[in-house]
Amino acid sequence: MIVTEFELRANWHKTKAKILTLPPGSVLTPSARDFLRSQNVQVKIEGNGLQDLNKKNLSTVKQSLVTINSQQRHSAGMAAEDESMTGAGPDADTKSEVQPQPEKPEHMTHLRGTQLVPKTNPVIAWRGQLDLFDCELVKTQVIFTAAGEEDLAKQLEEVAKFAQLIMAAEVREEPLEFSSLLGWTPEQIREMSHYPERYFGVSHRLMSYKDGAVIAGLHCLRSKVREVELYASRAFIGEDGECRRKDIILALNRLSSIFYVLICKRRSANKQDMQVPIGISNHHIHVSQEHLEALFGPGYILQPMKDLSQKGQFAAKETVTIEGPKGKIERVRILGPVRPETQIEINASDSFRLGVKPLVRDSGQLDGTDGIKLIGPRGTVETDRGVIVAARHIHMEPEDAEKWNLHNGQHVKVRMTSGRPVIFQDVLVRVSSKYRLEMHIDMDEANAALVTGETKAIIMEV
Ligand SMILES: [Zn+2]
Repeated sequence: MIVTEFELRANWHKTKAKILTLPPGSVLTPSARDFLRSQNVQVKIEGNGLQDLNKKNLSTVKQSLVTINSQQRHSAGMAAEDESMTGAGPDADTKSEVQPQPEKPEHMTHLRGTQLVPKTNPVIAWRGQLDLFDCELVKTQVIFTAAGEEDLAKQLEEVAKFAQLIMAAEVREEPLEFSSLLGWTPEQIREMSHYPERYFGVSHRLMSYKDGAVIAGLHCLRSKVREVELYASRAFIGEDGECRRKDIILALNRLSSIFYVLICKRRSANKQDMQVPIGISNHHIHVSQEHLEALFGPGYILQPMKDLSQKGQFAAKETVTIEGPKGKIERVRILGPVRPETQIEINASDSFRLGVKPLVRDSGQLDGTDGIKLIGPRGTVETDRGVIVAARHIHMEPEDAEKWNLHNGQHVKVRMTSGRPVIFQDVLVRVSSKYRLEMHIDMDEANAALVTGETKAIIMEV
């Protein structure tokens, strides 16, 4: 685990603890160590025997240090890690108590262990840039999450972890292990970023504000990585042109490419414009078999009249009258097949005519809803619940969701391309292989936007 000054500042201020416990194998960045020293915080490594640093029992600390150092050299051969780790805690404590160390000049910082260098050192400058990139990444994740782009924010989390690995490899002076990122090998990433036409059906082109906030955010991160890459070249390439961290330079190069890949992938999805056909529902009911028989007679079976767009769903020949405290509506169509529970879907405007509550609900969520009287040719039924104003939603197949980076249960904004354009918010995305791509709105919503046969629903990015 690598511990940065950024993380320490974020967490330490909550407790202001004087002893910080870290797991074995932890590495402190030089700036993290400076921070701990400035706050007089000691470091305890889990399970290493340094249980009570407050006593400042020198011999015990010394013995423990000898044990830790020899164990670690033995087990991992990480001399640099030993220094980084112990330098911040007991080691620093030992020195400050017994062998007072000259104060670190403000313009100097630790490169590795106790090695002091000027803050203008190119490796220190590079680490600072990588830290800055981390900050930009987190900020972008926050923005993406707020915009409903949780999946993308999660992908960026993997990228953040990769950046931490790069930092750790440099601080520990270890080779960087890099086999894949977001499921792609370094070679695949290079290939896709060079030939976006082949992989995503989009060509290289300059960025544009018209591509939306997500793509703009990804471009910013890509530029930041390229800057980190430049700093890396200054830090790791000698005057003779020899590069001593080719692995880090390659990793940073692929890191900037991965953002370009994500940009192309998103542009490809946008290209398809996220257009959704619209289905308008007038008031209708779904009935249980029990209610159907009460309304139409024993053993009655619904007669399909017309298939609906969603697979297996149909408009039945049968209609009923629905009657509320204030009024009734005749010839309300039954949609089949029968369901476990009767559900009466009305327009908000119908609720005033009927005298029932216009509760907006997703299909099937009937707790707390009003009941109503159903009148059929052979009988009537008083339901004790089931009247809803159906929440607007989009049905889609898993392939659509994948293509557009959406998931089941997500809410999106949708723009109607109609004569009286409207943006609908809180539109539920429902994903199932049983569905076909279609947005469902009710009559009131369709009339508000003056939806016609030409109108499309466009899912907005942010
Ligand atoms: Zn629907």
